[in-house]
Amino acid sequence: MDLMSMDIAELSAVLKNLNQPLYRAKQVFQWLAKGKTPAEMSNLPLSLREELSKLPLGSAKIYDKRISKKDSTIKYLFELEDGNIVEGVLMSYHYGNTMCISTQVGCRMGCLFCASTLNGCVRDLSAGEMLSFIAAAEKDVPHDADKVRTVTNIVLMGSGEPLDNYDNVVKFLRLVSHSDGMNISVRNISISTCGLVDKLNKFTDEAPHVTLSVSLHAPNDEIRNKIMPINKRYNVLQLLEAARRYAEVTKRRVIFEYALIKDMNSDMTCADMLSKRLRGINCHVNLIPLNDVKERNLNGVSRKEAELFLKRLTDNGLSATIRREMGSDIEGACGQLRRRVLEEKQK
Ligand code: SAH
Repeated sequence: MDLMSMDIAELSAVLKNLNQPLYRAKQVFQWLAKGKTPAEMSNLPLSLREELSKLPLGSAKIYDKRISKKDSTIKYLFELEDGNIVEGVLMSYHYGNTMCISTQVGCRMGCLFCASTLNGCVRDLSAGEMLSFIAAAEKDVPHDADKVRTVTNIVLMGSGEPLDNYDNVVKFLRLVSHSDGMNISVRNISISTCGLVDKLNKFTDEAPHVTLSVSLHAPNDEIRNKIMPINKRYNVLQLLEAARRYAEVTKRRVIFEYALIKDMNSDMTCADMLSKRLRGINCHVNLIPLNDVKERNLNGVSRKEAELFLKRLTDNGLSATIRREMGSDIEGACGQLRRRVLEEKQK
């Protein structure tokens, strides 16, 4: 296991092997959360720093970044220790900065509209690698003088399916919210899933209670089967039941993500069906303008059509909004930039 992925108990075991006093575990944990390498851990004896430097760290480096001229969104490409490349995005809002991170290199869910899945899943990310994306952004963008840190909110909404990398994701949530670590409150963390229902139920029962987003994108099985292969394993009814359960157990409002796709899921019949299906669930619908993926023949709808769809949902009594687009000038969305860079690398 890489050092970044370890909790204090696991670090204690490593340090015990190196004949070190136990209090060192917390010191190492605190340094790692600040994105420091063992060589930089200045309150440790030099010999220990050298020993720790021999172990795998699991830390990502910034490979490339682009800053949006429109809204100062920063899109990062991170390079992992094995040379793989993944994306992350830092967005600034009035309440703070939200970091969107990936949970896998690629994705194997096969959603028709998503660029992250075009080449399948290369591997899972470790908890430490996910943590290191936040640490790298923290170092890249120093926090304002009146703040403790740059990244105040986290969404697990980059490439990959978080619940397909269950153990590492849950470990990450524990590490990043630990009071001796980055101490980012679970209230400020969201996880987004395409609907692995068995894992979602497990998550409800045993994981820290973060905000849940469900990528629904269709009001019924007929449409969802066409665009999201996972629906053939867990259908809309089963998914909505699991989402309802999450909302009830955690007392948190669930977010349903719904990308409006032309001639697919965006007419008024769909809006009515969706309203009916979601009735009684403590939820909010986030309508997403589709980012066209040139590899697939799918297009978004106009602003006007999106607004009509929204009005129909709210008229039907649902809470709903259209998601603000950020970083559209820097390929901020879903696997787009990574894909471009991999293509360029191949050439
Ligand atoms: N696997 C997880 C998280 C990654 S995708 C999930 O499915 O939720 C993050 C969000 O981006 C999901 O809601 C996904 O459906 C959406 N998304 C993917 N491709 C998109 C595109 N081309 N346009 C708009 N949203 C997209």
